[in-house]
Amino acid sequence: MKTMTCKQLGGACDKTFSANSFDEISDKSKQHGMEMFQKGDKDHLKAINEMMTLMQNPEAMKEWFDNKRKVFESLPED
Ligand SMILES: [Zn+2]
Repeated sequence: MKTMTCKQLGGACDKTFSANSFDEISDKSKQHGMEMFQKGDKDHLKAINEMMTLMQNPEAMKEWFDNKRKVFESLPED
């Protein structure tokens, strides 16, 4: 298992997620982001807005995603 924080995954807090794969951890952070979005958390709303802007540019989005994947892969196992 590897651990990343919400912030490391483009979010806004220090909540941690653990997973065996990058896809799994990004799903967990997405779920958490949606929860915080529904609660109307300002910091997460801002992070989600930035993500929405990024998604309008597929190249930038891919690069962002690749970078996060590299971070995940470079982490030591828990
Ligand atoms: Zn968060």
